[in-house]
Amino acid sequence: MRPIRSFSVIPRLPPKLEVLWDLAYNYWFCWNDGVSDLFAQIDLDIWRECHGNPVAFLNQLPQKILEELARDEFFVERVRDAKKNLDDYLARTVSPVPFPGHEGRTPAVAYFSAEFGIDASLPVYSGGLGILAGDHLKSASDLNVPLVAIGLAYKKGYFRQYLTPDGWQQERYPDSDFEQLPMSLVKNDDGDPLTISVDMAGRECRAQVWKVAVGRISLLLLDANIADNDPDLREVTAQLYGGDWEMRIRQEILLGIGGIRALWAMGLAPTVIHMNEGHSAFAGLERIRVFMSESKLAFEAAVELTASTSVFTTHTPVPAGNDRFDPGLMQKYFEGYAKSLGLAFKVFLALGREDPRNDAETFCMTVLALRLSRFNNGVSELHGKVSRNMWKRVWPQYPVDDVPISAITNGVHQPSFVAPDMAALYDRYLGINWKEDPDCARVWRQAQNIPDSELWRTHERLRERLVDYARHRVADTQRKRGARRREVEESLEILDPRALTICFARRFATYKRANLLFMDVERLKRLVGNPDKPVQFIFAGKAHPQDNEGKKLIQQIIQLSRTPELKNKIVFLEDYDMSVARFMVQGGDVWLNNPRVPLEACGTSGMKAMSNGVLNVSTLDGWWAEAYQPDNSVGYGIGQGEIYDDWDYQDFVESQTLYNVLENDVVPDFYDRGHGNMPRGWVRRMKNALVHLGAAFSAHRMVEDYVRNAYIPAFKNYRELAARDFAKAKQMASWRMDVMTKWGDIHIRNVRTESPTQVFVGEPFLIEAEVWLAGLPVDDVRVELYAGPINQDGDVDRRRTIAMSPDGETEDGWKIFKGELLPQEAGRFGFTIRILPFHPLLIDPRSLGLIRWVG
Ligand SMILES: *Cc1c(COP(=O)(O)O)cnc(C)c1O
Repeated sequence: MRPIRSFSVIPRLPPKLEVLWDLAYNYWFCWNDGVSDLFAQIDLDIWRECHGNPVAFLNQLPQKILEELARDEFFVERVRDAKKNLDDYLARTVSPVPFPGHEGRTPAVAYFSAEFGIDASLPVYSGGLGILAGDHLKSASDLNVPLVAIGLAYKKGYFRQYLTPDGWQQERYPDSDFEQLPMSLVKNDDGDPLTISVDMAGRECRAQVWKVAVGRISLLLLDANIADNDPDLREVTAQLYGGDWEMRIRQEILLGIGGIRALWAMGLAPTVIHMNEGHSAFAGLERIRVFMSESKLAFEAAVELTASTSVFTTHTPVPAGNDRFDPGLMQKYFEGYAKSLGLAFKVFLALGREDPRNDAETFCMTVLALRLSRFNNGVSELHGKVSRNMWKRVWPQYPVDDVPISAITNGVHQPSFVAPDMAALYDRYLGINWKEDPDCARVWRQAQNIPDSELWRTHERLRERLVDYARHRVADTQRKRGARRREVEESLEILDPRALTICFARRFATYKRANLLFMDVERLKRLVGNPDKPVQFIFAGKAHPQDNEGKKLIQQIIQLSRTPELKNKIVFLEDYDMSVARFMVQGGDVWLNNPRVPLEACGTSGMKAMSNGVLNVSTLDGWWAEAYQPDNSVGYGIGQGEIYDDWDYQDFVESQTLYNVLENDVVPDFYDRGHGNMPRGWVRRMKNALVHLGAAFSAHRMVEDYVRNAYIPAFKNYRELAARDFAKAKQMASWRMDVMTKWGDIHIRNVRTESPTQVFVGEPFLIEAEVWLAGLPVDDVRVELYAGPINQDGDVDRRRTIAMSPDGETEDGWKIFKGELLPQEAGRFGFTIRILPFHPLLIDPRSLGLIRWVG
């Protein structure tokens, strides 16, 4: 090949318009409609061609248009205003959740995720996990949380979907041109791209770093596709969730270990890390290594410091969603690394095993993250419970309720998902505060004041827009597929802008059961075929490239959508992504969600719909188990959240329930029209949902929960533990080892009570016990009563724990502890006693895994 060297030519923006670059290079534009409108209005066709990517857009604008615009004083003024708004936004320093003692802008928290869904133009996400991470950054930006984010810059991102004429999913992997995206290369002091390196089984893999501005937050994306690397290592950042296990471990090494190194190389030193899903759990190991080599801490003290300042969120109850590596693969990539931590390889592997003694067990990233973090959470109340059960073997001595995994329910960044028309209504009736303060219940309560007719008209307009969008999208795909002109024209007539429109869009993972609606096709045909009460469905979603069952489902939907009775009433939109999602969550009447309980950890698309006044019809899983009201006042439920062993039977029962809910509740309610052809009951539900759910399911609420419950405690821990040359980290480590060695000798005896066997409600029941502490001071333990009503199995239910206090000692040196129970209701009660370690800096005493029960 001839050595061709290339260079790029970019348009010269007239000086008055130069600030357009500033607007283009900050993803703040994607939740400020005014700014994206500004781009769209310059040239709608080019804007659409560029898929809403403002950098590519500006680069493609003809010089002539730019010159013209520069002469348009009104336009110049609007650009100047937008830039001023951005500057004001960036300059603001107040935060509703300040970090005590933290000054300036340096990040205190590093947020790691394998994917980020910021905007459709930045294809480094696949689905819910990524969009949640994107929303986390946007809300953290709005709330001024000192956070920096780390991910990977995938050259091909996640695949793009297209269907063959007979409905079989095909995948395309177009390359992203990073130079043409709102991101810039991080440079070192010499002006060259800054690079970091990690070891990959004896070879060096280098990566450069792209910086994406998401409001005030920097998102750093590592990119291994550089000339320094061997060709196969350049592929490490080619695809999101592509390749085999070896590719996956390489990606996770780069994300976790490389991520920490990139932060250090850039002079950033966040003291807290948040691992969003287990993919980044190697970051914990790297922090331990750095604390050992830079700060000369022993392994145990480095673990203490790392775990006390790490936050971990687990996201899925589906086993395949939790990465597990073969011991052989681990050995290939981590044998040397284990040595650098001073660990025998077997001890190293135990960090990722549920049972440290089981040599056959694989190395699980979730287990590693759980062990290296003292704040662990699931993403809804129900998922927290499911996770405690799922990971209880990591804490074998604990009752499942005590497994230290809590819950922070996900939320959505509403300014990114609320339709502009709806946003204008909210501006007027909720006050412009709703964008800044979407987690304030008082703000959403004002939704009560939106006149019914205005809300309904706005919603109807959005439905019309969705129908129009669907028609054009289907026509486009047909044109691309080479369909005949008549067919293309016919697709501009599909759907009915006035019919009850039910949307179903998500990944075609089996547990999400896109097929539930098709269990009884005849009944479905009757449902959509009623001429007085027409119903239509819009579907979208991608199946994983290796998931043939998911692909068959898509094909089944396509084929059914061609049968005469369903034609034009069931439509599948190809290539689901954030921009398709926006149209659907804004314009549907109903958002349908029927996962198999309890496999949907949370689900967020329904929250986007809810924020637009779209009603949810959903099984009681994930967030909907928290949001749903049994009187159907905020939306509809399918079933009661039952869990079945027989899945076929479950699908049968729940599909019947789904048809019943649609036929008996949803359709009649939607078509119960009064004055002005308005469904008052429906509109009331829309408002109820906004009033009661708007604040609770906002990403602002979620980020504030993380800040208060996890980030700030971890931030304080670092300051305490690291002060005076890590004095307390060292002390904690030796305390822990002391407790561990003595723990086995701790005993409880002589549990007694002087109270009668029957007491009245509200009367104290006194309990005393003698405890052998094997030389530990009484302050190092918590002796607890563990009590509650006795259930049918003779076990304690709804247990409470009550601290017992030391009260002298026996002649032979046993400590006496006393406590009392105050039963608040009549019935059979039971109690037992247990001992946990206690240290003021231990966030959660359960995280050490130590416990001692009576006898
Ligand atoms: C919000 C969103 C999701 C998440 O959907 P759930 O199935 O409800 O968790 C997935 N994909 C896209 C494009 C989204 O916008």
